[in-house]
Amino acid sequence: MDCVIIFFPCPECKIGSVFAVKDKNSNKIYAYCEECDTLWKTPEDISERRYLTEEFEWGGYASLKEVKKFGWGKYIGNNNENMAEQRKAGGR
Ligand SMILES: [Zn+2]
Repeated sequence: MDCVIIFFPCPECKIGSVFAVKDKNSNKIYAYCEECDTLWKTPEDISERRYLTEEFEWGGYASLKEVKKFGWGKYIGNNNENMAEQRKAGGR
């Protein structure tokens, strides 16, 4: 699966990875923790604990290409590829 971790660990649950996900209707990208279901509008909001209040409809994980195109490339840490690899292999 092609997915991008924007932030780790999640500041809310401390164990989850925050992924870049797509909104089905707007095709905008949001930050989402699959562990505690918290959704943020931008990666900057993650540290400030500002959650998304507008409607969001699950449109799947954003690919690395989509994340970069959306201008979130700067948020992707160097560890991301390694973490994605581990995830593919079944690790966390
Ligand atoms: Zn979380």
